[in-house]
Amino acid sequence: MDLNIKINQQDHLDIGGADTVELAKEYGTPLYVIDENRIRENYKRVYKAFTKYYSDFKIFYACKANTNLSVMRILEEVGSSIDAVSPGEVYTALNTGFTPDRILFTGNNVKDEELKYIDETGVRINIDSISQLKRLANIINPKKIIKETGEAYKISFRVNPMVGAGHHEHCITGGEMSKFGIKDNEAVEVYKLAEELGFNPVGMHTHIGSGILDPEPFKLATTVLMDIAGVVAQKTDIDFEFLDLGGGLGIPYTPEEHLLDINPFAEEITGIFKSKLSEYGMDGVKSPSMYIEPGRYIVGDASVILTKVNTVKDSYRKFIGVDSGFNTILRPSMYDSYHHIMVANKASAKEVETLDIAGNVCESGDLFARDRPLPKIEEGDLLAIMNAGAYSFSMASQYNSRPRPAEVLVKNGESEIVREKETYDDLFNKQIIPERLKK
Ligand SMILES: *Cc1c(COP(=O)(O)O)cnc(C)c1O
Repeated sequence: MDLNIKINQQDHLDIGGADTVELAKEYGTPLYVIDENRIRENYKRVYKAFTKYYSDFKIFYACKANTNLSVMRILEEVGSSIDAVSPGEVYTALNTGFTPDRILFTGNNVKDEELKYIDETGVRINIDSISQLKRLANIINPKKIIKETGEAYKISFRVNPMVGAGHHEHCITGGEMSKFGIKDNEAVEVYKLAEELGFNPVGMHTHIGSGILDPEPFKLATTVLMDIAGVVAQKTDIDFEFLDLGGGLGIPYTPEEHLLDINPFAEEITGIFKSKLSEYGMDGVKSPSMYIEPGRYIVGDASVILTKVNTVKDSYRKFIGVDSGFNTILRPSMYDSYHHIMVANKASAKEVETLDIAGNVCESGDLFARDRPLPKIEEGDLLAIMNAGAYSFSMASQYNSRPRPAEVLVKNGESEIVREKETYDDLFNKQIIPERLKK
């Protein structure tokens, strides 16, 4: 069992040294609680593991996992860079102190207005399709840029390595069913086209999926990416400045799963990286930097959602009803994901029955757990939905007209509100009732 769980002397669940029962009393429920030190530890663990074997290494935190401004500030402080997948994420990163050179934009089906915006920010664009390449060329006129500045506009490409992996088919982002990236067997052509258009393609990127606990697919994708990059380097005059292996590092969600053993993982990945650099003669003085883009691994196990039991219902099944729903964490409903659930006010109580934990959204799919072995649960108990740091608030909605809950940051036992809970009036944000419909 590798879940990030700490139980205090009152038999309450602790997060970041703070008692979850006290947090629920102070801030109300539902509540997202973020453990600052855990984010810092997760980042450092990866950084240390990889730089031990390859010093020219950078982490681009995939901020779609969690764009909370304080989380972004923590990652800026530790020295991370940012993988942004939308103009809004670029805007968020710039506004939380990341300089443009620390941001890589990897969009999908990006429209011209968005390309114009990203270009104006000075953030590097990682291109996903030939269409996007040609449209960017029309927008910025790369040949004119060379004339004016003497330097070519730098871009990179996302490549589909025909390898995919992930915890759910929706999360597999490589392979022939995937909408992402340029085709592996078109890479040489596309890099040549980019040069003809006046660009300087300095990087290659891939990202095969999410929630990967088995190193094999990541190793395979690294091998394939390095082979594609190697062939491009041999058949063109391109010197790669960076090769980006993407994210997807998993975390244990179930008690049976184990943390990815990051040190041997880093050793293997950097081993493949280095041997491929030398195989293709890319290991000279200007050997490329290695980037990875973990999102979930950095923030996933740093948060819990606290939610209170208001209803115990003996129907045809036994339901435990709580005061949040899939509008606060979509993963169980959307991906059928397992999230470990603890009774925060009696954290070491033994499992005695199997229960369904149901949210308060009016949809039958609004379940946090089905047939889950749990201790005896009573109305008024506080439940903690574990591992709620990644793809939780960032996917939250106001569905059912439920304002989104507050977020609290804890560090060494101290807590601070970092996002106020929304009010009913926030449900009306930006809406305009035409005059003729007004009462
Ligand atoms: C989502 C995403 C990631 C991060 O995925 P995780 O599973 O959270 O590590 C990295 N790179 C890109 C391009 C992504 O879209």
